[in-house]
Amino acid sequence: MFLFKKLKETDSYLSAARKNGRSIGLAPTMGALHKGHVSLVEQSRSENDLTVVSIFVNPAQFNDPQDLKNYPRNLERDLGILLDAGCDIAFVPETETVYPEPDKREFDFGDMDKIMEGRFRPGHFTGVARVVSRLFEIIKPDKAYFGEKDIQQLAIIRKMTEMLNLPVEIRGCPTLREDDGLAMSSRNVLLDAQQRKNAPIINQVLQSAAGKKGVPAGEVKQWVAVTIKKNPLLELEYFEIVDSEDLQPVHDHYPLDDKLIGCIAVRAGRVRLIDNIIFSNFTSS
Ligand code: AMP
Repeated sequence: MFLFKKLKETDSYLSAARKNGRSIGLAPTMGALHKGHVSLVEQSRSENDLTVVSIFVNPAQFNDPQDLKNYPRNLERDLGILLDAGCDIAFVPETETVYPEPDKREFDFGDMDKIMEGRFRPGHFTGVARVVSRLFEIIKPDKAYFGEKDIQQLAIIRKMTEMLNLPVEIRGCPTLREDDGLAMSSRNVLLDAQQRKNAPIINQVLQSAAGKKGVPAGEVKQWVAVTIKKNPLLELEYFEIVDSEDLQPVHDHYPLDDKLIGCIAVRAGRVRLIDNIIFSNFTSS
């Protein structure tokens, strides 16, 4: 595995590979890697000749300076995980490499970035779109891999790719979970023992909510809010039932065959956790 930090070495290696007809898959990450990230590497390896994983804690997508400061970082460990996963290139740039000049681009995602994560983390998706489009420009991947755990991010990246007409195929990968159902996340290591013990409730609540077939969306939302409130260690930021493509929240009357997802964000102390579940065949009556 190569470790590249600079544009020149990255570009000369990848340009030569591209000239030799080798396909390139990219999985952008912020490090603190876990099996969820490894699953993106595996998916990319099965579909490309070369797999690049970028590790860059992007300051532009943190609206909360404390969250940026606390974000777990461990490059040595991450490189070991990538080596074991069969990654070909770890791209670990400095901020100046990604942004030689300040990136002031704004993106019009309509209503998609105004709700859920966008509402609670103002500016987050502008930061994500800036860094991902810049990584696409540097790496020029054929395919790029993103987790369905961050389902709103995945939808926004698809939209950005379409809006900018970028020649890259966006691939969504299923959420990997701990044995108790908690979605794997770099932030899980920040949970204390009691918070960690209670965190699987998030997925349990989502599963019960998705099982409430025939119950109007408003009532399901209310049930989720009341259920999370009963747990003193968890605080609900939002729960929405949205269309999986345009992310617009559904109301009590909507076509029964829509593909819907329930998306949730919960705080356990200082740690923010998100998850989602497909509401296939969810119906209102
Ligand atoms: P992050 O390092 O948290 O920015 O995540 C990098 C990529 O890994 C994103 O595309 C995430 O959606 C994806 N990812 C994070 N957690 C998981 C998970 N539990 N399962 C699958 N993919 C994940």
